[in-house]
Amino acid sequence: MTGPAAYDAIVLGAGPAGSTAAIALSRRGWKVALIEKAEFPRRKVCGEFVSATSLAVIERVGLGGEWRAMAGPEVRRVAFFGGERAVAANMPAAGGRGFGRALGRDVLDDLLAREAERAGATLFQPFRATAIRREAEGQAVTVVSREREETLLAPVVIAAHGSWEPGGLPSQLEKTNRPTDLLGFKAHFSGAELAFDLMPLLVFPGGYGGMVRADGERLSLSLCIRRDALTRLRQQAGGGPAADAVHRHLLASCRGIEQAIGGAELIGPWLASGPIRPGMRPRYADDIFRIGNAAGESHPIIAEGISMAMQSAWLLAEELGAIDPSSRAERAAAGRGYARRWRGQFATRILAASAIAELALRPAGAAAMGRAVEALPALLTLGARLSGKTKALAKMPDGRARMCRMRAS
Ligand SMILES: Cc1cc2nc3c(=O)[nH]c(=O)nc-3n(C[C@H](O)[C@H](O)[C@H](O)COP(=O)(O)OP(=O)(O)OC[C@H]3O[C@@H](n4cnc5c(N)ncnc54)[C@H](O)[C@@H]3O)c2cc1C
Repeated sequence: MTGPAAYDAIVLGAGPAGSTAAIALSRRGWKVALIEKAEFPRRKVCGEFVSATSLAVIERVGLGGEWRAMAGPEVRRVAFFGGERAVAANMPAAGGRGFGRALGRDVLDDLLAREAERAGATLFQPFRATAIRREAEGQAVTVVSREREETLLAPVVIAAHGSWEPGGLPSQLEKTNRPTDLLGFKAHFSGAELAFDLMPLLVFPGGYGGMVRADGERLSLSLCIRRDALTRLRQQAGGGPAADAVHRHLLASCRGIEQAIGGAELIGPWLASGPIRPGMRPRYADDIFRIGNAAGESHPIIAEGISMAMQSAWLLAEELGAIDPSSRAERAAAGRGYARRWRGQFATRILAASAIAELALRPAGAAAMGRAVEALPALLTLGARLSGKTKALAKMPDGRARMCRMRAS
């Protein structure tokens, strides 16, 4: 009788965080299992903009060519669209790395997962991870598909399952149901009227969002709206789908949105998800490493989540490359090193995003924000800088990088 399949690492979730980690570890010679519950390609609630600071990671995972060929135009200007106001300013340049661009999550996530397989990872898809149990030889992860259940074993378990879905894993968050919860919506449009180099921040009663040109003819529009505001909109409409109420609200409350998508056509249905869970969480706890949204999430008002997902995965893979994964003490040391670097890389933008979102979500704050950026458009450039748009991924400290090279040789 054969026992459970054994790996060096099991990665839970094949979003940008999970697939990046699977690629980086597989290329270091690790035996990796990558678990994804959804079938790809699939669309996802997300604005789909990726900052220029992540281009280095995209190159390192081996997708630079695909990225350059498929992603939308360079975003060289940021803007504020709120009520009657439309103000634009320069996007700060990310030091020789060009500008960020957007690529549909149906395309990006599929490219990354296929690259993980090419790098040698075993992809379990569609399989849902349902339990993690500590065993003498490592950790046992139960994965379930429609047809079968399997147990996989590994010393290293990496939670990359995002933050929007509850479940039985110790790294998953409980569902919330508060009036102030922010629910995410997203749609693609064709025939939209938006300058190709522009990414406006959208501010409207009850929420905020963003628009950007993505791949092909698609414009990606995504937003967060408070649960109580959505309930009111639906009551005013006398029922009907939530997305229809949101769509009408956007057109009626913001001139810039109306001009961009008033005559455009929806491609596919609106998507909804959430509530989102902004904040910082343990990056290593219960002997489980967490990356991407599972480790911490910024308000999507700054459009940095994909970058944080890929960059955090890269940071963790570097730290894991310096240890013997079978030693719990070394895993804990890698966890501490990773947590420290994660904080240095992402804490400022999470706090900045939270402050900007707080302002945007209050009527008086949103009005003040509009007046301020109209008087001083450079504030938009400053906001983009604070949100991490120019912060390159920090190099690994010398001592640990040396250990990493020794392990690799
Ligand atoms: C409205 C909105 C707009 C946004 N716009 C942007 C933007 O423009 N730019 C940007 O950078 N970020 C944006 N974000 C944030 C971004 O979408 C997330 O930060 C990013 O998706 C996080 O990546 P991840 O890999 O951590 O998780 P996810 O992308 O959520 O991936 C997790 C994966 O794990 C899978 N999974 C979950 N549970 C299990 C399980 N138990 N077993 C197996 N698989 C599982 C899921 O199916 C999924 O594929 C936006 C978010 C919202 C809500």
